[in-house]
Amino acid sequence: MVRAMVTNEKGKEPLRDEKAGAGAEKGPAGTTTEITALLRGVLEESFSRDEDEPETGEGLGWIYPSSLARGCILAVAFELLGAPKAEPESRVKRIFQVGSASHHRILSYFSKVLMAREVPFLDEEYRLKGRCDALLFIPPGISEPSGFYVLEIKTAGSMEYGLIKGEGRPRPEHSRQCHIYIWGIERYYGLPVRGGVIYYENRDTLEYMLFPVEYDEAELLPLLERVKALLPKLREGELPQDPIDRLPPDHWAHEYCPYLEICGYGQEAVRQKMVESKGIPDAMLAKIIAERIVIKRRREKEKERKRKGPRSLEELAEELGWARDWAGGGGSEEGVDSPEAGGLL
Ligand code: SF4
Repeated sequence: MVRAMVTNEKGKEPLRDEKAGAGAEKGPAGTTTEITALLRGVLEESFSRDEDEPETGEGLGWIYPSSLARGCILAVAFELLGAPKAEPESRVKRIFQVGSASHHRILSYFSKVLMAREVPFLDEEYRLKGRCDALLFIPPGISEPSGFYVLEIKTAGSMEYGLIKGEGRPRPEHSRQCHIYIWGIERYYGLPVRGGVIYYENRDTLEYMLFPVEYDEAELLPLLERVKALLPKLREGELPQDPIDRLPPDHWAHEYCPYLEICGYGQEAVRQKMVESKGIPDAMLAKIIAERIVIKRRREKEKERKRKGPRSLEELAEELGWARDWAGGGGSEEGVDSPEAGGLL
């Protein structure tokens, strides 16, 4: 357990109370003791990690933040019970692999403020286990508010990227995932985490966007309460029956749920949507529209480029998002080769 490894300088007493959570007393962030304790915990966790470790928790598995963030407690129940999942098709698997492979490169852009990468946490009480992409530390004087921030990296194809850019905010499930990491890391390590940052990268063009995420406990706690209420029922072999514990019928996520094959509600929801939209699911319609928007923008850019004549090297670098200037706030597009902390938040 990492929590047991988070000790004071004598290495005997826990640095903070085991139950220290979001509301726990927060000392000044970034003291040497806290940073050393965090890193020691991360290292010990890595040394002792056994991927084949048998599950505890009376036969229940673990909930992963990305699953909980979608908000379907029935899917969470299937996950805890180890229900069979549909295998993603190999093309989708390769997309995941490309996304994972990009993480190392993307994290290098944050090297000036990177405290730890792949930071694990687990919580027995809620059966939650996860690993946030990175923990950043913004030192005082570079940007305020200074302190620890979780970083979540997402890569997306042009259509998906264009939709998020058009909305001007992260997808709700991605913000929620960030909230879960903030909550989990604070609770596990006793570290005060100020907030989160989501980095979106367009896989096709390498454009990027940064969004700050403010921790929203009022949104997260009801979801965690539903998990808490679920666990004793599952141990008695009862699946959640309340409609609030599954996504509404018109939600896009049923189609992509790995448990769709064993979920009657999800199957009925997908069938209904097909009937209502005369065979074209909403997600597909959205993709078609987004694709047209992206193609239109590309054509406009191309026209503009032709009008201006040949580009200089600097213009080309700027177009590809390699500009050196990182000044600017969250949510805007910036260059990626010089990640000053001031450009993050
Ligand atoms: S198919 Fe829909 S309702 Fe069923 S578990 Fe998945 S997300 Fe939940």
